[in-house]
Amino acid sequence: MKVLVVNAGSSSLKYQLIDTDTKNTLAKGLIERIGIDGTKLKQEVNGDKYEFEHPMKDHVVASQFMLDALTDENHGVLSNMDEIAAVGHRVVHGGEKFTQSVIIDDEVIEAIKENIPLGPLHNPANLMGIMACQEVMPNTPMVAVFDTAFHQTMPPKAFLYGVPMDYYERLHVRRYGFHGTSHRYVSARAAEFLGKDINNLRIITCHLGNGSSIAAIHNGKSVDTSMGLTPLEGVLMGTRCGSLDPAVVQYIMNNDGISVDEVLEIFNKKSGLLGVSGVSSDMRDIDAAAESGNENALVAQQILDMGIKKYIGSYAAVMGGVDVIVFTAGIGENSIELRERVMEGMSFLGAAIDKEKNKVRGKEADISADDSKVKVVVIPTNEELAIARDAFELVKNL
Ligand code: AMP
Repeated sequence: MKVLVVNAGSSSLKYQLIDTDTKNTLAKGLIERIGIDGTKLKQEVNGDKYEFEHPMKDHVVASQFMLDALTDENHGVLSNMDEIAAVGHRVVHGGEKFTQSVIIDDEVIEAIKENIPLGPLHNPANLMGIMACQEVMPNTPMVAVFDTAFHQTMPPKAFLYGVPMDYYERLHVRRYGFHGTSHRYVSARAAEFLGKDINNLRIITCHLGNGSSIAAIHNGKSVDTSMGLTPLEGVLMGTRCGSLDPAVVQYIMNNDGISVDEVLEIFNKKSGLLGVSGVSSDMRDIDAAAESGNENALVAQQILDMGIKKYIGSYAAVMGGVDVIVFTAGIGENSIELRERVMEGMSFLGAAIDKEKNKVRGKEADISADDSKVKVVVIPTNEELAIARDAFELVKNL
């Protein structure tokens, strides 16, 4: 079955056409600067790169260009858009309503709207993507796959914050967690790769990319994760600060005379690796700067390493041990050095890596030392494939 996977941002539309039988990506595209000058579409099919600039005033127009590109005689992969059996949409915040992927109907759209206060940066854009696709593909079933859904199995002791219960009951303030599609995919894939039953495993998944989160997965269910009400909580990220004392907000506001929105903008966009190092939000730049003696880049690296270690230690404690540690996403899949630094001194947990086996980038590998009780693996994430599979499962019997 051919499934179109769509990830809509406020001015962008990322898409992949996936064949769920072969797991192959047939086409991959990105439309940027929707509604702004210089809107560009880039598409790749089997190494053939197709790119053009054309005004697109909104997501509906952009979706039509996406379909035109996919069915283009010279650069496309489809002879007819009816070949698309389903569209899978990434939706960031599903709140407490969505514990799994669902077929989109009016009620689902209303529920995604209701969750806008929880995901103000992402849900409106995700909705625009859904509604635009519905307009240009009115007869194609659409599925919503939520970043938060996988973490809905967390128990109250993991998802509640220590604030008056009224805030949870009235305002739904709680830990939701994100990257759920990735944590679900890599944990299941790690179990398969190791030939083990996921229902009998304690797994810690480290999704380390520009945004990073770590999850504790006990018998296939998420029992804790590092991101919270928003993706700001947890380990240090590219531009996000990760966890800190909330009183820092008031202290900065009072001293610098800036608003809470400005402080949050700094915590989201100007902190993390970028803010600490003053160099870049990109791990490769941080590594290069640290290597050449930049002390702030070095300490940024160290904050991240230590944060990951602390989560691994605490999640092992929560699950009464750990059987598998998974590294995934841009940094987790590619940074040999970070994996080595994080896993150093972890033998007290029965976890050690083999430095030679660790010399892999971007492919599935068991990097554990022969005598390591804990399996340490690299599993490239594939959120698009996971979304396409969910869409397939939901629409196959329609
Ligand atoms: P993602 O958000 O999953 O695309 O991950 C992006 C992050 O992965 C960026 O910080 C990149 O610098 C990092 N990354 C990609 N390749 C490497 C590499 N070879 N070594 C270290 N970090 C990398």
